[in-house]
Amino acid sequence: MSRQSPDLVILGGGCAGLSLAYRLARHQDAPRTLIVDPRNDYTNDRTWCGWPVTAHPFQEDVRARWHDLTLHTDRASTTIESRRYPYEMLEAERFYSRTLAAVEAHPSIERIQAHAVDVEDREDGVTVTLDSGETVRARFGVDTRPHPKPLTSPWLWQDFAGINVQADNLPRHAELMDFRVNDDPQAGIDFLYVLPYAPDQALFEWTRFGRPPTDPGTLEHRLEDYLETRLGPGKWQALRRETGTLPMAPPTRTNGRSMVVTGAYGGAMRAATGYAFHAIQRWADECADALLKGQPPVGARPGRVLPHLDRIFMSTLARHPERAPEFYRGLFEHAPTDSLIRFLSGVPSVRDTLSVMNALPWAPLIGSTLRHALPGQT
Ligand SMILES: Cc1cc2nc3c(=O)[nH]c(=O)nc-3n(C[C@H](O)[C@H](O)[C@H](O)COP(=O)(O)OP(=O)(O)OC[C@H]3O[C@@H](n4cnc5c(N)ncnc54)[C@H](O)[C@@H]3O)c2cc1C
Repeated sequence: MSRQSPDLVILGGGCAGLSLAYRLARHQDAPRTLIVDPRNDYTNDRTWCGWPVTAHPFQEDVRARWHDLTLHTDRASTTIESRRYPYEMLEAERFYSRTLAAVEAHPSIERIQAHAVDVEDREDGVTVTLDSGETVRARFGVDTRPHPKPLTSPWLWQDFAGINVQADNLPRHAELMDFRVNDDPQAGIDFLYVLPYAPDQALFEWTRFGRPPTDPGTLEHRLEDYLETRLGPGKWQALRRETGTLPMAPPTRTNGRSMVVTGAYGGAMRAATGYAFHAIQRWADECADALLKGQPPVGARPGRVLPHLDRIFMSTLARHPERAPEFYRGLFEHAPTDSLIRFLSGVPSVRDTLSVMNALPWAPLIGSTLRHALPGQT
């Protein structure tokens, strides 16, 4: 069975797929678009945080913003402040309801519940086979499907477990990285992330960078133990939970002939940080602009320089996990804050990059750079 050919097929209606569809849905003359995703319900399954270095259309959905962020290590604590780029938090349910409503209201955009199981990608178009056996032919495609693969050195998994907590004695300041929980660096680089967004509510997240991946359930137990100690036995209540496993690694696929790739596994996620939401928004602007002009879609663009720097940084972390807390503290303390934020967000100027590099300890970085330059080394 084959349905009428759309101009565009989007594989995956998650953050990237719906971000693109939302922009198209704001135009009456949007290309005829089909979104393919097996999900039957969209729940509040994740919280997106990051810095809005570039504008995005979901400002009204931002739940909270913080100008000050603190980092703790065993040796010291340091706080950065940015008036220009407050750290922001969006809850997925608001994003889903806004984007799905726009998509459903548009006459040329359709969403179907199915798995894409095969893609034939030719110069003149794409043919997608669905798990129902149906095929969809479209002039162009955008593939946002997750595509996990085993990671090799120096890349690491980022595993995390988060709990939205209600309690009376919550911290009042946002803590971006608290490495004081990092008791076994050889098992993984652990830190805690705390975002108080109401007087009696905060998101706590236990995060680990490591390889092989850790079952996030293990981290959830550690987080619960931590909350019992920090807030007091039985003195807190879990309002919501989330877990995730993200590859801190280069994309696992590349653009094809008529199908481009994007999303967390397609080059939109910064390998050294795991941040993807704001990069996806920048990509969606660019891709929608191209499509609305009648041009082919564009894939995520990780850039040329940053992937090399990420490899060197990840290689340094993998070789010196015990020094990770002080690497990050050095960055917080010595890099100009707005430069650091633009760098972490994937949109640094040359000057930003140089000032961030300058804030890192040179000796281990040079070691990693040399190893990276030599064939067969990581
Ligand atoms: C719990 C959690 C918290 C996160 N927090 C942050 C954060 O704070 N800041 C940040 O920048 N990033 C964060 N991320 C990382 C990243 O922003 C998200 O993973 C984001 O959702 C990535 O968007 P995506 O479209 O690539 O993937 P998704 O949003 O996961 O969408 C992929 C879609 O593909 C669909 N799909 C799967 N298989 C198929 C198939 N065969 N055919 C068709 N569709 C298919 C899935 O159902 C899904 O809807 C977080 C991730 C998680 C999991």
